[in-house]
Amino acid sequence: MSFTMHGVGVSNGIAIGHAHLVSHALLEVAHYVVPAHLVEDEVHRFTQAIETVRADLEAVRRQLPANAPAELESFVGTHLMILADKSLSEAPIQIIRDEQCNAEWALKQEMDDLVAQFEEIEDEYLRERKFDVVQVVERVIKVLLGHPSQVVLEKQESGMILVAHDLSPADAIQFKQHQFAAFITDVGGATSHTAILARSLNIPSIVALHRARDLIRDGEMIIVDGNLGVVIVSPDKNTLTEYRLRQEQWDIEQQKLKRLKLTKAVTLDGTTIELHANIEIPEDVAQSKAAGATGIGLYRTEFLFMNRREWPTEDEQFEAYRRVTEAMKGMPVTIRTLDLGADKPANPDEARTCTNPALGLRAIRLCLSEPHIFHSQIRAILRASHYGNVKLLIPMISTLSELRQALHLIDRAKRSLRDQNIPFDEMMPIGGMIEVPAAALKADAFARELDFLSIGTNDLIQYTLAIDRTDDSVAHLYNPLHPAVLQLIEMSIRAADKAGKPISVCGEMAGDPKLTRLLLGFGLRQFSMHPAHVLAVKRQVLQSSLPRLTSSVRKILASAEIDRIEPLLDKLNQ
Ligand code: PEP
Ligand code: MG
Repeated sequence: MSFTMHGVGVSNGIAIGHAHLVSHALLEVAHYVVPAHLVEDEVHRFTQAIETVRADLEAVRRQLPANAPAELESFVGTHLMILADKSLSEAPIQIIRDEQCNAEWALKQEMDDLVAQFEEIEDEYLRERKFDVVQVVERVIKVLLGHPSQVVLEKQESGMILVAHDLSPADAIQFKQHQFAAFITDVGGATSHTAILARSLNIPSIVALHRARDLIRDGEMIIVDGNLGVVIVSPDKNTLTEYRLRQEQWDIEQQKLKRLKLTKAVTLDGTTIELHANIEIPEDVAQSKAAGATGIGLYRTEFLFMNRREWPTEDEQFEAYRRVTEAMKGMPVTIRTLDLGADKPANPDEARTCTNPALGLRAIRLCLSEPHIFHSQIRAILRASHYGNVKLLIPMISTLSELRQALHLIDRAKRSLRDQNIPFDEMMPIGGMIEVPAAALKADAFARELDFLSIGTNDLIQYTLAIDRTDDSVAHLYNPLHPAVLQLIEMSIRAADKAGKPISVCGEMAGDPKLTRLLLGFGLRQFSMHPAHVLAVKRQVLQSSLPRLTSSVRKILASAEIDRIEPLLDKLNQ
């Protein structure tokens, strides 16, 4: 029987294929009593299993392919750390001895306790780290049950769709060697490691389907629509025909778009538009260049600081920033200083207990309160500036005094480099992000003190509408077309223009082709987005004439109701 499931689409595209179910060892755990004289043997069986998994993970780490995403090594490292933690490697031994139970059961008991503790955590990112614990436990249980600890992919058929309760990053390494069409999982959120990996693998994927692993049978035909976050199981003939058509159209569309890679982004009336890419790790540069991005408009450096016990050193940072800078061969690289906090805490182990993390000590606020971290990052960015066209971007500024403190610290870092005769670009432009309504309202003042501005619409929408951008229950209210949001964006662009300073949009709005003309009509000439969106936005630029946009855009700006804005936008896009 055909049925449909809804989840969170984390990587676009459409795939049609047969399901390949990944075993879910945790469901197979039985509970039995171990006779007293065999308890120590059971303990031995447990410690052996831990040893086997440790050796497997070490092997995975050693055999990481050169083209594996860089986070993968740190993911595997995190799993090794979890495995070595006493709560997993020692506490179950006590349970085996106290309860005279089997090792699998003892381990599962301990895992359930740990997961319950994680579930208490308010912060979504930290809460999701419970999946790492579950993935590690699942490996050990598989070994105890006599299975290999890795996901086994006996079938080599290409075009398979992987259906798993969860997938660990280490398992995902195998994706590089197998041609999977898509993958879907029961758990994971938009910021889970699985989601991060899905994007870098560039195949359609959906997480948070809840019961896909239970409801889908091995070999069953399924359709994965990553664009809509929809899975159709055992589709009927008509649906299948329709989706085959949609898939074909999607593929043709992608192929057509690829032809635009080298085409200059110029409007019909001859205005050049800069289309830059947002990246999270140095490896993303390849995808950005393949998409024809003419610069990096946002390098989210905080990913270098995540999932690790110690901060990266100045030298480690410098190497990462230099790699990106050199790879871009003179094209602009906008490196944003640390934007940790809120939904991006540094370390899963360090739960920050604060009621309102998005309004708390995050981004530049955090950096100003930890000047030594900021100092080493600024030095690393400045050092990288010697190797190409680097710009520095400060996130989340809300007051001028905060900006001046940051500029003062940047000057200090420059002085320290000069004292050591370390070269850097003395003229490196410094910009600020407009993400807080206060900054948008006073964009003129910020524009005067900075070399450029960049509007972070993801946060600007969150703070203008008081909608937590990570909270599912209010996601329907998170609307980029709210007239207050549009007004703040337009005001900021106008203020920058008046001050003669460049301004870009680097939030998700920049990558939505439906909003390209609107932003062009506001006067925007620089967009920065996920590399996957560059070509679709370019096509829209190529088909737009700026003088023709003026009157419709004026009407949209004058409208106070979202319901009226939507049809006006449709008209603008015709
Ligand atoms: C934004 O807020 O729009 C932005 C680009 O920053 P981030 O998504 O990293 O918060
Ligand atoms: Mg932001």
